[in-house]
Amino acid sequence: GTPGVRGLETTALTKSFGGVRAVDAASVAFHHGKVNALIGPNGSGKTTFFNCVTGLVKPDSGTASYRGEDITGKPPHRISRAGIGRSFQLCRVFPRMTVLENMLVPVRSRTLLGRLRSARQRTDVERARELLARVGIEHLEGTEARDLSYGQQKLLEMAGVLMADPETIMLDEPAGGVNPALIDRIAGLVRALNAEGKTFLIVEHNMDLVMSLSDHVVVLDRGRPIAAGTPDEVRDDPRVLEAYLGI
Ligand code: ADP
Repeated sequence: GTPGVRGLETTALTKSFGGVRAVDAASVAFHHGKVNALIGPNGSGKTTFFNCVTGLVKPDSGTASYRGEDITGKPPHRISRAGIGRSFQLCRVFPRMTVLENMLVPVRSRTLLGRLRSARQRTDVERARELLARVGIEHLEGTEARDLSYGQQKLLEMAGVLMADPETIMLDEPAGGVNPALIDRIAGLVRALNAEGKTFLIVEHNMDLVMSLSDHVVVLDRGRPIAAGTPDEVRDDPRVLEAYLGI
């Protein structure tokens, strides 16, 4: 990553549901070009934070910006156009479509420039096949998504996210419900894509994975960032231990 490049940042971002402040005045700066993790106990606001910065949920107040551009409250397609792609905690694929068809569905969410560029260079189908090979499921292109294992569906979703060629990729629990061999594959993919310049922002409960994969970790507790730093810094922070132990 280029030092000093501004990536995804929030200032006093707040979102309440009824009386619950799911995200509470959260000011966070993720490191552009790096693998970032957002961690915290269940209910600490990680998913709501993700939803606020990807346009699925409108924050009540505060701001979100990406590379200096204000993205606060913008709809998902605008945020996608700004260069942010995301996966979902409960994997989103179309069960009765084939793997290849699933890859071609989200093409509409891509930037005009990206579409023109790819139309000139190669077809979407070629690109889809290349990405399926990259995640290791090219042999399943004719299989309906519902017949894939859960881990394979997550790889398909990740390949689908890559179709839009996002600069920043947000993954919501990429290892959740996935067997150890596929977790290794997902980790390897994140490392390789990061080495090629992609920024990651990952919500993940598997601490071994978080600590081995991340450059920068932000810890949420009751909607507030309580610690941020390298995995080593965060691991030994008493505030983090307290949050997880619920003291
Ligand atoms: P996490 O992803 O860290 O588990 P969430 O963002 O899912 O946390 O939830 C944070 C808090 O907001 C929790 O108390 C949760 O019950 C509440 N919450 C999240 N989404 C909604 C919603 N759509 N309606 C009501 N409460 C919600």
